[in-house]
Amino acid sequence: MKTKEPCRVAFPRFGNYHIPLEFLFTKGLGVEYITPPPSTKKTLEIGSKYSPDYVCSPFKFNLGNYIEAIEAGANTLVQTGGTCRLGYYGELHEQILKDLGYDVKFVNMSKANYRNPLTFYNEFKKVNPNLNLAKVSSALLTMLKMVECIDNVDDYVRQNVGFEVHDGEMEKIHEAYLEALKQVETKKDVIKTTKTYMKKLKDVKTKKPKKLIRVGIVGEYYTIMEPFSNHFIEKELAKKGIVIYRWMNVTNSILHYDGKEQKKVIKNYVKYYMGATSMSTVYKTLEWAKAGFDGIVHVKSFGCTPEIDAMPVLQKISADYKIPILYFSFDSQTSETGIQTRLEAFYDMIMMRKEKRK
Ligand code: SF4
Repeated sequence: MKTKEPCRVAFPRFGNYHIPLEFLFTKGLGVEYITPPPSTKKTLEIGSKYSPDYVCSPFKFNLGNYIEAIEAGANTLVQTGGTCRLGYYGELHEQILKDLGYDVKFVNMSKANYRNPLTFYNEFKKVNPNLNLAKVSSALLTMLKMVECIDNVDDYVRQNVGFEVHDGEMEKIHEAYLEALKQVETKKDVIKTTKTYMKKLKDVKTKKPKKLIRVGIVGEYYTIMEPFSNHFIEKELAKKGIVIYRWMNVTNSILHYDGKEQKKVIKNYVKYYMGATSMSTVYKTLEWAKAGFDGIVHVKSFGCTPEIDAMPVLQKISADYKIPILYFSFDSQTSETGIQTRLEAFYDMIMMRKEKRK
């Protein structure tokens, strides 16, 4: 990267979190932020073309996002950290992009501690050496509040969208909310905007049956949170009139994560730490099984070892609590028709089961 060029930063696309990221980089670090285009089939094709064949799909999506961001003008790429091989992806992405001839700067967040915001400071200095600590801290706090609010609103939509009387109303308000968040300046603005749109969402007319069908979604971090990578599975389930619960988001898994509590709850099923999101997968499956949910959907990327390890434990919970679990493994080759057929069969099965139990 030419040294005098102003920094134009990009981070891989991931759910709706590009909005708080843009806030942090523009307001806190004083640099331009390039939001990569939403992930599409093309993103995955580009990423897969230059990735090792058997690497898990978050790697391929992230690489595709980087290339699309560079094409959109980014010259500084922020790489994610993680507790599985995700932590090594930064170096590999960097090498591949260099081999492809891209002249960009890399900032590797696996060197920072996600639970200690201060450790980000050193990494951020690589983006802008003249950082103002007070400005970064204030933007970081606003950004974290934004993440929490986005996750809360997402939860509400997930649990109610399947029951709206007029199709598409909640989606429109949700989109308007995300647009409005792009205009906020302070933490107060975030709270106020969220309140306004939450009210609008709650005003949407819904019609819920007396006996609700409750399904919990568990699984691997990226695949569960990036809707394109899981073929919009939550939307598909909601369309069937199902209340969808999903614990896995940035707020729960990073900002308010309590690993000790999880370990305690699942101690009869898991003795040793299994890595990445697998402990949380077991924890929520067990909790929802105990709460009498109608079913669980487990999603992961093909080849995700921590989640593969969690699967036999889920099968045990399924047998102990007589709760059906549907397993999905996504990759660049996943067939849309196959997903639809399996979702239909799963829905029919939980409905029959519910009828029988009446
Ligand atoms: S959690 Fe699984 S899918 Fe996600 S990056 Fe790690 S190994 Fe890959």
